[in-house]
Amino acid sequence: MNNRIKQNNLKTFVDIVEDRSHLWKKIVAEAVRDPAELCRRLDISNENVDLNPDFPMLVPEPFLQRIKPGDPLDPLLLQVLPRKEESAVSPGFTTDPVGENGNLSPEGTLSKYHGRSLIVTGKACSIHCRFCFRRHLPFPGIEKNSIAGSFCIDPETIAAQFEADPTIHEAILSGGDPLMLSDRQLKDLIFHLDQVPGIQRIRIHTRMPIIIPQRLTENLLSFLGNNKRYGKAAKMIMVLHVNHPNELDSRVSQSIEELIDSGCILLSQTVLLRQVNDSLPVLAELFERLIDLGIMPYYLHQLDRVAGATHFEVSPEKGCDLITKLRTRLPGYAVPRYVREISGEPGKVVLK
Ligand code: SF4
Repeated sequence: MNNRIKQNNLKTFVDIVEDRSHLWKKIVAEAVRDPAELCRRLDISNENVDLNPDFPMLVPEPFLQRIKPGDPLDPLLLQVLPRKEESAVSPGFTTDPVGENGNLSPEGTLSKYHGRSLIVTGKACSIHCRFCFRRHLPFPGIEKNSIAGSFCIDPETIAAQFEADPTIHEAILSGGDPLMLSDRQLKDLIFHLDQVPGIQRIRIHTRMPIIIPQRLTENLLSFLGNNKRYGKAAKMIMVLHVNHPNELDSRVSQSIEELIDSGCILLSQTVLLRQVNDSLPVLAELFERLIDLGIMPYYLHQLDRVAGATHFEVSPEKGCDLITKLRTRLPGYAVPRYVREISGEPGKVVLK
């Protein structure tokens, strides 16, 4: 092989690696944002759809591919399609249901739990869940409903803040979705947090590995895990937001396997949603699938009463009944805690 051919082959290989590592950004950039287009793509009527919603629609292709065409009640579609019902005004449903607005420090942290501090890494997400409790929050320094690249926090300042408070042992990365940060930004943040002597755990709350499994690039996995070769002092924990077994396709399963190989501790959280997962067979299948994938079901959340999401609410009585029935059907470790967030409470309230 002459040198020119060798060089061409090398370039092709580098290009492929480069393409793979940026593929997720392309997927986010090309996500469907027009409700009318989504309806056309899925061959459903847009009669009850809000075609110009305040909280914009965002549906990336890998998630769209898991929605069944022609079915307006598909459980994945219901989570992302803006319906006219969102404009219903209901007593008790507010723009800030868990009382976060105004409690965010200028550094982008929220200290509402003892021993833990939550970092709001940005408002960007890879999908817009219509029931999101933060859908109305005007995070400072972040473009409203922006996508990739939002980063208003300074890792050094946050690390210094945590170092000054020895009661903080766990840093929780939230958002938006922390995995919308670039690899460099995320690595920098984790590096600085890991240097804080008191920080024993770094927890990432994300929906990204479920929505766009292509986000779990080799580079990202190389610094997320707990294996000794990463040399981190803090334990890495990832809490995956997943609501329905149909979200767990073969590509997602493959990414979960890679996450497990990295040594990351995996937990799940699910929001109880009317018409999406408020039935015994659906929840039983979801939690069994999670266990089989190596993810411990951690929380089943009662919906936060955010304005625009009234139609997703399931009564706590029905939720408790579902948990009771799940306990007769699944092993104890496969049934998550059923919890609700109450504004002003120092922790989640366990309903069952
Ligand atoms: S991924 Fe999470 S933060 Fe983003 S819109 Fe969905 S529920 Fe909200």
